[in-house]
Amino acid sequence: MAVTIKRTGMLLIISGPSGTGKGTLVKKLVDSDPSFRFSCSVTTRKPRTGEMDGVHYHFVSEEEYARLLADGEFLENATVHGHNYGTLRQPVEQLMESGYNVLLDIDPQGAISVMDNAADYVSVFILPPSYAELRVRLHTRNTDDPVEIERRLNNARGEVNRIDRYQYAIINDNLELAFSQLQAIVTAEKYRTKRYKPTISET
Ligand code: ADP
Ligand code: 5GP
Repeated sequence: MAVTIKRTGMLLIISGPSGTGKGTLVKKLVDSDPSFRFSCSVTTRKPRTGEMDGVHYHFVSEEEYARLLADGEFLENATVHGHNYGTLRQPVEQLMESGYNVLLDIDPQGAISVMDNAADYVSVFILPPSYAELRVRLHTRNTDDPVEIERRLNNARGEVNRIDRYQYAIINDNLELAFSQLQAIVTAEKYRTKRYKPTISET
């Protein structure tokens, strides 16, 4: 028996407080599942050591960001921890039209805006095991100065309050367990009939 399968791309929104492990989980998913592509956001934040333009973010000036915003180039955008971030509409639409699943690593303001406007999406909120562990992770990551870390920790509680808007939640305590939970969500969502259209042949 031959079965033809047509798949429709999934828009997977990952969000949660800074330092919970979103980037780590997103990288693991992109590295292990070729059907996923990461949506590289635009930001006015300065690059951290090791971050590459066009890979981690498109790093732009305030002027360039304002131009993109005025031209309607963003699917969503938000000011997060004092910096501007936005998802470019065109690459996301192009990837989804090509049949890829697209991953957005975006803050709750942006996530809720996508959820309010997109016809179809999967949303996952990543939680830390505790606020104390979140603090440890932000310090251990060693990418932000103490003032920036405090700002991110102060914002975390407000962000966690938005959890009810999401379809799924994962506590990222043990990384491998959290990743297997994310994979389980992705697998189930891939087989929803709105995305999975098998055609059974006559023979
Ligand atoms: P986010 O993208 O949410 O800001 P990161 O993916 O950068 O967070 O993770 C923050 C830090 O925590 C990184 O140093 C990362 O290696 C570490 N980390 C991620 N997941 C875990 C985990 N389950 N246990 C311990 N450390 C983790
Ligand atoms: P960071 O500065 O640590 O890379 O990211 C800070 C926060 O901005 C994280 O919560 C991240 O998910 C969010 N973020 C990154 N890109 C975007 C984006 O394009 N839009 C929105 N709304 N948030 C983003």
